[in-house]
Amino acid sequence: MICLRERFQSCDGRKVLTERKNNKSETKTEEVGRRYRQPNLKGVSYDYDLALFKEAQARAAEDMVENQLKSVPENNKGISSIIMGHYEMDVWYQSPYPEEYARLPKLYLCEFCLKYMKSNVILRRHVAKCVWLQPPGDEIYRKGNLSVFEVDGQKTKIYCQNLCLLAKLFLDHKTLYYDVEPFLFYIMTEVDSEGCHMVGYFSKFSKDV
Ligand SMILES: [Zn+2]
Repeated sequence: MICLRERFQSCDGRKVLTERKNNKSETKTEEVGRRYRQPNLKGVSYDYDLALFKEAQARAAEDMVENQLKSVPENNKGISSIIMGHYEMDVWYQSPYPEEYARLPKLYLCEFCLKYMKSNVILRRHVAKCVWLQPPGDEIYRKGNLSVFEVDGQKTKIYCQNLCLLAKLFLDHKTLYYDVEPFLFYIMTEVDSEGCHMVGYFSKFSKDV
């Protein structure tokens, strides 16, 4: 796998970020992204107390989501928007996420590993720990701040399943969700100092399987 640190050294991430901040249409979405990040609490209290606080915070968040779920009407149409990276997006179609997630009006996704979660607190805790900064495959193309990664459905099944579930939110006719092993996925990303942000993908049947 290509080392992302090496990738960043060859790319002026700060310049890309500055350009993005100068673009007014993206300023708002960046603020959305920051709002969902866990503030740095290091040094505020003893590590032991901090760990207890985070544990209590996580439990409270899960309880809150469970309570919210109880008040979701039975005829609720399901997910209406997702939070992913710097963006909040309205979805176009429903996707066969597990029922306890598919019933939620809003779903929270890690933009790098595509894990889906029930609340922004759970997402923030995940983002603070997630070690992924790029798709789990080989970088096969690079130009400017764009990189394309080839991801094998057989080697990284969960990631590819999560990718298909995400794609179904925007593709009415999509039928591939769980049987991803025979496919290769090509993920196009935009690179900055925070990581490789997915902007699109396509998949093809692999004859090797
Ligand atoms: Zn993640």
